[in-house]
Amino acid sequence: MKAIRIERVGGPEVLKLADVPTAEPSANQVLIRHRAIGVNFIDVYHRTGLYKLNLPFTPGMEGSGVVEAVGPDASGVQPGDRVAYAMALGSYSEYALVPAHQIVPLPPTLSFELGAAALLQGMTAHYLTESSYPVKQGDSVLVHAAAGGAGLLVVQMAKRRGARVFGTVSTPAKAGLAQQAGADEVILYTQEDFESEVKRLTDGKGVQVVYDSVGRTTFEKSLNCLAPRGVLVLFGQSSGPVPPVDPGTLMGKGSLFLTRPTLAHYSASRDELLWRAGDLFSWMDSGEVKVRIGQVLPLADASEAHRRLEGRQTSGKLLLVP
Ligand code: NDP
Repeated sequence: MKAIRIERVGGPEVLKLADVPTAEPSANQVLIRHRAIGVNFIDVYHRTGLYKLNLPFTPGMEGSGVVEAVGPDASGVQPGDRVAYAMALGSYSEYALVPAHQIVPLPPTLSFELGAAALLQGMTAHYLTESSYPVKQGDSVLVHAAAGGAGLLVVQMAKRRGARVFGTVSTPAKAGLAQQAGADEVILYTQEDFESEVKRLTDGKGVQVVYDSVGRTTFEKSLNCLAPRGVLVLFGQSSGPVPPVDPGTLMGKGSLFLTRPTLAHYSASRDELLWRAGDLFSWMDSGEVKVRIGQVLPLADASEAHRRLEGRQTSGKLLLVP
């Protein structure tokens, strides 16, 4: 089969299309023939070595497709099933072996493209707004990269829970998308200082929670945007990692809370995974949550996909198709 391989960490050029053997599923594994592959920022961290993996490897943490074969101990899934999965490495490929407990059935109403576009970022938006900081009616919420894959979903889920939502974006076109997703106010952080804007929009009070996936360039000001006892949910670092923080800073800025969560810990049990995926798919079905597929590229163009994602040229979801 064809797969993207990484032999050494580095820039987008290290993503190479190669011929590799298709493995047989063992024990609890399922072999999936991909129909769509989700591109996520974590794939960039794996490629650059920010998150370390043993070399060589096939990147990619999300896909959808048809079950081709099932290992002897894998239960609840059969050849021919339409499925999707997230947080299992190796999806930039025609086929992938995935642990059965990480697979979710794809409802008949959802296309393979929407399945691969929704699951990882959708379950992330779900745990951020339902669990890391459960958004309450009347809260003010700040979402960075609000037109990104995760961002558009966080905006919609925070609105669903009754918040006033502020989003930051880099361009007017992205501002339009964040507004369509329901953001009440959109701040162009390339042109305006988002901290001053948030203070102005909240009459100096600040917001109850900031969902910050940008990291290094936004972290300090995100803390400054919080109301006393507010929560900074730092869930990514698309601009680079955040330097070490002195806990005294959290006291000085208003008895703040800081958390650095990952989807892996918020979907660790089968029940939790099915709860988050079930809510997500039913909200998509009812039209309460819309997933925007921004761009679709062939698997062979994985390098170009990474250039666009890192170059801030994407909005919504970027997919690869084998
Ligand atoms: P996005 O679609 O959000 O793409 C990244 C966006 O970040 C860009 O489009 C850009 O938006 C913004 N950005 C700001 N500064 C930079 C920079 N210096 N370089 C690149 N982008 C920048 O990607 P994803 O939705 O895949 O992921 C968003 C974030 O969420 C990532 O940090 C990712 O690691 C994190 N994440 C974390 C998870 C978790 O469980 N902890 C799970 C899923 C995602 P703009 O042009 O508007 O500035």
